[in-house]
Amino acid sequence: MPRKDITLNPHVAALPPYNAGMNIAAARKLSGRDDIAALASNENPDGCSPKVMAALAGVNPSRYSDPACTTLRGALSTKVGVASDRIVIGNGSEDMIAAICRAVLCPGAPVATVSPGFGLHEIEALANGATVDKVPMRADLDFDVPAIVAALSKAPAIFFLSSPSNPVGPALNTASLEQILAAVSHQTLLVLDEAYFEYADDETPDGLELLSGSGLNYVVLRTFSKAYGLAGLRVGYAVFSDDRLARAVSSSKTPFNVNSVAQIAAVAALDDDAWMKSSVASMTGERARVAEALVSMGLRAAKSQTNFLFIDVGLDSQKAFGHLLSHGIIVKPWKEKGYETFIRMTIGTPAENDRFIAALHMLIAR
Ligand SMILES: *Cc1c(COP(=O)(O)O)cnc(C)c1O
Repeated sequence: MPRKDITLNPHVAALPPYNAGMNIAAARKLSGRDDIAALASNENPDGCSPKVMAALAGVNPSRYSDPACTTLRGALSTKVGVASDRIVIGNGSEDMIAAICRAVLCPGAPVATVSPGFGLHEIEALANGATVDKVPMRADLDFDVPAIVAALSKAPAIFFLSSPSNPVGPALNTASLEQILAAVSHQTLLVLDEAYFEYADDETPDGLELLSGSGLNYVVLRTFSKAYGLAGLRVGYAVFSDDRLARAVSSSKTPFNVNSVAQIAAVAALDDDAWMKSSVASMTGERARVAEALVSMGLRAAKSQTNFLFIDVGLDSQKAFGHLLSHGIIVKPWKEKGYETFIRMTIGTPAENDRFIAALHMLIAR
């Protein structure tokens, strides 16, 4: 029996677990196969730019990293056209989600988000004692703009919105996003999580562009984990509406949160947008091909502006997960009420996608 002398923070003790995708080692063990297709965590199957690998040779591990991430913030400032003092770098954008909650939320504060949504938008809010109101997506797997507007009218302390959406996939268009912005009160910090920004088509608005000049209190989150292929190095960033908010969030993170390897890699990645764009283009082609195969199997998937598809497989998602795992394929099964027949599949290499289509076909044809 564990001892119970230590009183735990009740908000933390009651947290739901984060539902991380199964890792490759565990999948090898469970499936008995070596050739695992890791399609659960929205990683980039193309790896990363060769310029990143070359830059890493210059790292000196014995020196502390720059706590201000000066070079990276400078490069991002140029890229997004926002002053450096409004940019904070995180050990992944999830680190920024935690720091934002810690900086803004007091126990009992109301937070709102969309459901199904990104787990940490809820978990980090709960960890700080907030209450979380969840606005459901529509039955046709798109954003329910009037319901989001209604939730915003209650002026939550934070509204977390991922567009393009994880796990569902669609992005808000300009008219919908403008309708949402019009409903944001000055008491609400709007956190627009654009982790899949680079994958969205030309019709999808640039949230940062739309928000600048809105007069609202906002944060736009972006990451190097997805299109830039640096998930394992942990680096993402937050762009704030003003430097006061940026300073508060900066104070609520640990000082050396971003290691030197991550900082150097991110700067090199930004310097090779051509690599990122060609990786995005091959993903887009593969996504269309997988989506077409799903249609021909009679399966429904949500519209996607991301590197994944949210698919109704028409049977228990855990069962589908087990079947695919036995074929060496890892996907993420959904358990949330109303979505128990959905899996989220990351677009992989063409060969991995072929394996996924074949294994899924076997499952639904029997
Ligand atoms: C992947 C993802 C993140 C986290 O990215 P990191 O930068 O790797 O921490 C944040 N938000 C959403 C919606 C994501 O899908």
